[in-house]
Amino acid sequence: MLLTISTTHQPATDLGYLLHKNPARLQTVEVSGGQAHVFYPEATAERCTAALLLDLDPVGLVRGRGERGGEGFALEQYVNDRPYVASSFLSVALSKAFSTAMNGTCKDRPALPAEALPLAVKVAVVAAPGPDWPRRLFEPLGYQVETEAYALDPTQPAWGDSQYYTLHLRHDGLRLQDVLTHLYVLLPVLDNNKHYYVDQTEAEKLLHRGGDWLPRHPERDFITRRYLRYRALYVNPTLARLLEGEEDEGSADSVSPRTEEAEGSPVENASPQAAESKDAAHDLAESATLPKVSLHDQRLQQVAQEIYQLAPKRVLDLGCGEGKLLRLLLRQPKIDYILGMDVSHQALTRAAQRLHLAEMPPRQRARLDLIQGSLLYKDERLAGFDAAALVEVIEHLDPSRLAALEAVVFGQARPGHVFVTTPNADYNQFYDTLSAGTFRHTDHRFEWSRAEFAAWATAVAERHGYQVRLVAMGEEVEGVGGPSQMAVFGL
Ligand code: SAH
Repeated sequence: MLLTISTTHQPATDLGYLLHKNPARLQTVEVSGGQAHVFYPEATAERCTAALLLDLDPVGLVRGRGERGGEGFALEQYVNDRPYVASSFLSVALSKAFSTAMNGTCKDRPALPAEALPLAVKVAVVAAPGPDWPRRLFEPLGYQVETEAYALDPTQPAWGDSQYYTLHLRHDGLRLQDVLTHLYVLLPVLDNNKHYYVDQTEAEKLLHRGGDWLPRHPERDFITRRYLRYRALYVNPTLARLLEGEEDEGSADSVSPRTEEAEGSPVENASPQAAESKDAAHDLAESATLPKVSLHDQRLQQVAQEIYQLAPKRVLDLGCGEGKLLRLLLRQPKIDYILGMDVSHQALTRAAQRLHLAEMPPRQRARLDLIQGSLLYKDERLAGFDAAALVEVIEHLDPSRLAALEAVVFGQARPGHVFVTTPNADYNQFYDTLSAGTFRHTDHRFEWSRAEFAAWATAVAERHGYQVRLVAMGEEVEGVGGPSQMAVFGL
């Protein structure tokens, strides 16, 4: 699978800065299922071409797929089109090899990512449901599209063309970041054969990568359905959110989502190998090949989705940290006002920077305030909210202080709904790097089993007149739960 990107922008070698890959060197990135090699067949001041050669190992792809590898005819799992076709594997490789460019940053030439460049892209090959599909997907984005078809069998012209095409795209002036994002979303849509499990994380990814252009794309529904593998559970809410963002122009995205990258503690990002070997209920082998979305990001997205379904007007993020949930909440246009509170001044400063608070348009700026405060002390400012989130906060407090937090949140502030998440200690056995009795984060004062969390949450709910339901977060393993757990309280 070969992808090339060429430009005649002057000097053309700026492409190397933008892609964060030196034209003089061959660079190789490990990706799920194989390797991506990045090199430059030409790099002069007049014209520069960067190539990404995705070299998938068909045998490696089969490993870890367990029983399901046996589908189809015996050799099909080894002899198939996966190594040759632009697919979700290419998207993962793009996001890994060119993450800086995709996020629109360029350390050495900070102004470059914003520049519209003449660009030509060649992808050999794409699979498509019909010859007109590459055009239907890319032309509305301003590309000139050409496809080269291939006979199914050159010796049997009557059989017609295969479903494979070499795709040529040209654009007179577009940011490289946009081109990469379009390819990231649309190539797997053409191919329609994702190599990993599609869940809410994928829906959030589509909103993140497509939020700027997908709402106005004439094939929006087709793209969304195929991107999310026709899973109605995700397709319909995602379409609804895309459209809402569109109607409420300016508010949904004036906070650039691109600057956000997965963080979280190294332990939490580690893939739970042990779970895989235990043949976990869920298809962890597949999820291990997911483009890297940390557990923490999944958790935030799940909370954001729960909040979204409530359609609250005023939302609190208590212990908001660096503002990752705030960013997701700002993208929900139905929320009028969000208040983020944290005890740490440093965290709040980071949040203000990450959310570009100073540059926010006034209407958006009016939707958000950040305040310093402690959840252990009564605070009038927390009254009058429809929902409050405490994402991975309680375990940072000494158990003896939880009663004070309970009094402040459930006794005094009393939001209509409260979402509390905390690690699930039952799941810690799957983290190889955690020895017994240790926590996932050095600042954690405790980590509760599902039973301990349920006991606390039920008692809190009873004492303060809330209903409560407990929810597993992240990939769930039967009898163990997910890596994290959430209590959803409602008045
Ligand atoms: N909710 C954020 C941050 C989780 S880390 C996220 O999910 O990304 C825990 C946060 O709780 C830290 O930012 C810490 O400063 C904050 N915190 C700890 N004790 C607190 C207290 N007593 N009152 C308010 N915030 C507190």
